Amino acid sequence: MTLKETLEFLSLKSMAANFEEEAKKALKRKDSYTDYLKNLAEEEMLQKIERSINTKIVKARLPYIKTLEMFDFSFQPSIDEKYVKELSNLSFLEKAENILFVGPPGVGKTHLACAFGVKACQGRKRVLFSYANQLIEDLVISSSTNTLSEKMAFLTRLDLLIIDELGYMPVGNNGANLFFQLVSRRYETSSIILTSNKPFSQWGEIFGNETIASAILDRLVHHSHIFQISGKSYRIKDKISGKHSK
Ligand code: ADP
Ligand code: MG
Repeated sequence: MTLKETLEFLSLKSMAANFEEEAKKALKRKDSYTDYLKNLAEEEMLQKIERSINTKIVKARLPYIKTLEMFDFSFQPSIDEKYVKELSNLSFLEKAENILFVGPPGVGKTHLACAFGVKACQGRKRVLFSYANQLIEDLVISSSTNTLSEKMAFLTRLDLLIIDELGYMPVGNNGANLFFQLVSRRYETSSIILTSNKPFSQWGEIFGNETIASAILDRLVHHSHIFQISGKSYRIKDKISGKHSK
């Protein structure tokens, strides 16, 4: 076996690809053997971390990659930029706190939820993005096919569960009960980021039942950071000002 083959067998991809080139450079620089090995190993480590972050982002199934840096806070003054940036240190995950974004369409709820999702992946957390109606439908299907306990276990193990667009579709009785179970399972153990177009006062209508709606709200809101976003839709900002965008 050549050294290249041995390194590849050990899955040291970066070292296998770079050791010859780096050896030439090290000779020129008169690096010690340990410095040469240290540089190669560090590069391998960095690439491994990057691969693992990319895998986490793929597994998170975010609808798009948007970051906090890409968010124009001046356009949405109802959002406290400092508060959002403080949360981006991810301490809310350690404290199993939730983040709720409530507001009309186009104000950046999904963008911000995804931005926290990306941050969490970079912090090597297990993240899953889901649309509320799809998530609830999955729970209903799991319960009718006797796979609910596996599904719940999977959803409970995630460090961050993002639930987008609660409120666009009404939720049936069975779905509401299963959603309550999910929220209860994660309550005080792991975080949820949820977005909704409906103010809390209308959650009874979403779930068709005031009691279950307030039980869900109770658990979500206790230990949470709530952003009530008011203001204009970013999607139609150029149309309103007379400019044109794609
Ligand atoms: P919502 O989920 O509230 O309906 P989105 O987060 O999907 O809205 O935002 C709609 C589009 O506008 C997305 O492409 C998003 O990146 C962009 N957007 C919204 N608000 C802002 C903002 N303040 N700065 C930059 N882009 C924004
Ligand atoms: Mg959205």
